[in-house]
Amino acid sequence: MTDNKPANPLFAVHGTLEKLPTLNLDSTFTFRCHKGIACWGECCHNPDLFLTPYDVLRLKRARGMTSQDFLARHTVHYIGEDFGLPVVKLKCDGPRGACPFFAGAEGCAVYNDRPTSCRAYPVGQAASSGSSTANSATVLFRIEEDHCLGWREKDEWTPVTWFENEGVLQYNDYNEFVIRLAFHPRLGAPGALDERKMGMLFMALYDLDRFREFVLSTSFLDKFMVDEGELEAIRAKDEALLHFAARWINHSILGVKSFDVKTAH
Ligand code: SF4
Ligand code: SF4
Repeated sequence: MTDNKPANPLFAVHGTLEKLPTLNLDSTFTFRCHKGIACWGECCHNPDLFLTPYDVLRLKRARGMTSQDFLARHTVHYIGEDFGLPVVKLKCDGPRGACPFFAGAEGCAVYNDRPTSCRAYPVGQAASSGSSTANSATVLFRIEEDHCLGWREKDEWTPVTWFENEGVLQYNDYNEFVIRLAFHPRLGAPGALDERKMGMLFMALYDLDRFREFVLSTSFLDKFMVDEGELEAIRAKDEALLHFAARWINHSILGVKSFDVKTAH
């Protein structure tokens, strides 16, 4: 599996995958995707691809774009009808609904930074309502689409070996926070947040460069104690900033005290 494999990007935090056959962590399946296969790139057309905050972080960096420019150019976003949180999808406006990163015979132009669902395919992941707890309950599915010939190949996998091979586990670690949010009892319903809080949540999760400005260039640091080491980390590393954003959401939106507030003198 060394080719720049395109993959059908199906990822759902609930609902849509649940009609598909399920897989256990140790279930075996056979699959191989490679250049030269007759269906090459079929899955990168009209993929209906959800992006997680970590997906956006990796893609905007891979393309050398700010999060603001990436979101404007490559995504559509709206508030999910069923769970009332921001949903970000990749805008696939190339010929035949091609993903903007599909590079024909070369495959995926952002292969090293491809989104979670592209990595996991043909295994689908969906989180059940148990995921608002620390022990997230993820259900795995076989996404066996007619156009995908990879299922006829002989390489044998389990979801665990597949995810290791495709780098899904690191992505899942970053994605867990947003899945927990989707099922959080204080958030996981339409109307749970007012417009201002929804805007802040969207910025903190997806528009990281703007969130960095918010932390470093507004009165944020006059109000909250943040040590110098953490400030250095969030200046330099998007990943550190995403962790910081999760902490801030816990504090300011979920009401879980995660920062010490400075006292006025
Ligand atoms: S990001 Fe890459 S793998 Fe995913 S749909 Fe686009 S071209 Fe295909
Ligand atoms: S085998 Fe499946 S994943 Fe690979 S290119 Fe074909 S449709 Fe896409």
